[in-house]
Amino acid sequence: MKKIQMTTPLVEMDGDEMTRILWKMIKDELILPFVDLKAEYYDLGLPYRDETRDQVTFDSAEATKKYGVAVKCATITPNHQRMDEYKLHEMWKSPNGTIRSMLDGTVFRAPITIPSIKPAVKSWEKPITIARHAYGDVYKGVEIRNEEEGTAKLVFEGKSGKKEEVVIHEFKGPGIIQGMHNTDRSIRSFAHSCFKYALDTNQDLWFSTKDTISKKYDAQFRIVFEEVFQEYKEEFDKRGLEYFYTLIDDAVARVIRSKGGYIWACKNYDGDVMSDMVSTAFGSLAMMTSVLVSPDGKYEYEAAHGTVTRHYYKHLAGEETSTNPMATIFAWSGAFRKRGELDNLPELVKYADELEAACFDTLNEGIVTKDLVNLMEGITPTAVNSENFIKAIRQRLEKRLA
Ligand code: NAD
Repeated sequence: MKKIQMTTPLVEMDGDEMTRILWKMIKDELILPFVDLKAEYYDLGLPYRDETRDQVTFDSAEATKKYGVAVKCATITPNHQRMDEYKLHEMWKSPNGTIRSMLDGTVFRAPITIPSIKPAVKSWEKPITIARHAYGDVYKGVEIRNEEEGTAKLVFEGKSGKKEEVVIHEFKGPGIIQGMHNTDRSIRSFAHSCFKYALDTNQDLWFSTKDTISKKYDAQFRIVFEEVFQEYKEEFDKRGLEYFYTLIDDAVARVIRSKGGYIWACKNYDGDVMSDMVSTAFGSLAMMTSVLVSPDGKYEYEAAHGTVTRHYYKHLAGEETSTNPMATIFAWSGAFRKRGELDNLPELVKYADELEAACFDTLNEGIVTKDLVNLMEGITPTAVNSENFIKAIRQRLEKRLA
C-alpha cells in the first residue's frame, strides 16, 4: 500500500508512563504502516524534561506556534513524591500549563460517544463540548481570614493616579474575604478561541455567566463575547449557527433537557465543575478528548486523562494491562485531520476519518478495554488487553483503507 504523504510536520510531544507505552503502540500499528509521518519530535517525558531543565517543553510550544498543529501524550506533573521517584532537579511546572500560557489557549473537551454506552442523561444524543476559560477568577484569587471586627475594602490605584475604593463589608465579627481578577485581554482571547472552534466544528456556541448578580465582573465577560461575536456573526449566519448567551442557572437547566451537539463555554470555575459532570455523565474519562485552541488558530490535541500510573506499575511488574487508548488515538486523528485541512490534503483527512471509524467498528463489535465493560448496554463485550485492542483496530483500518 502506498503511504499517505504529508507536507508540513506535526509537532509530536511524547509523554510518560502507560500513555507513553500506548503512544508507541499506536504509532507502530495504526500510523507508520499507513502514513509517511512527518513530525518534529519533542520528548516531554519527565526524565528528558529534567535533563533539559524543562527547555524541551518551551521548545515544543514554540514549534506549535510555528507549525500550527501538535499532538501530545499525557505527561506527569511533578509533585513531592515524583521529585524523589525521578530524582528531579526542580519541581517542574505542568507542561500543559506552560503550553497553555504560551499559546494563550482555551481547552475544549468532548466525549467520544458510541451507541452501546448510554449517557446518564437520557435526552443527550450528541456530544457536549465544554470550553473552559483557563485564566484567573478564583484560581488567581487572594484571600484573608479576618479574626475580628473591622472593614474590608476593594481598592484600585490606577497608574494615572486615579483611585477607586469600595467597602466590601463592615465586619461585626470574624469572617472571610476574597479578591479575584480577570483581564479584558484574556477574556477576548477566550472568546476568539470559542468562536473559531465553533466554526471549525460547525456547532452552536452557548456561553453562560451570572451577570444578574455580578453586574460588572460577569457582565464584562458577556460584553466582550458580544463584541467579539460581531467579527464572526456573518459566518455564523451563513452556516445557520447560533451564538446563545444565557444565565448559568438557565444554561444548566437547558443542558440537561437538550439533545447535545453544541459547545458550552464556561468561566474558569464553572468549566472546572461542569467538565467533570459532563464527562462522567457521558461515561468515561478514558473516552474524553481535549484540544487546546489559541486565539490565532494553533491547535494542540491530546487525551483528557493522565498517564494512568496505576496501570504503568502493573506493566512494569510484567502484568498485562487493558488501558484504553481511544482518547490518545483520537488526539492523533484530530491532529492529522487538522493538518490535512490546513495543507489541503484530502487523503490525510480521509485517513483520520477512517482511523476513527475503525475504532468505532471495533467497539461496536464488542471488542473493548476493561474500563468499558461495565458501561456497555445491549451487547456482550469481550475485554482485551491494550495491544490486542489496537491490533483489532488495525485489522479494521486495513480493510477500510484497502
Ligand atoms: P489518570 O487519568 O492517569 O488516571 C485516573 C484513573 O482513571 C486511573 O486510575 C484509571 O482508573 C482511570 N483511567 C484514566 N485513563 C484511563 C485509560 N486510558 N484507560 C483506562 N483507565 C483510565 O489520572 P491520575 O492517576 O490522577 O494521574 C496520573 C498522572 O497523570 C499524574 O502524574 C498526573 O500529573 C498526570 N496527569 C496528566 C495529565 C495530562 O498530561 N493532560 C492530565 C491529568 C493527569
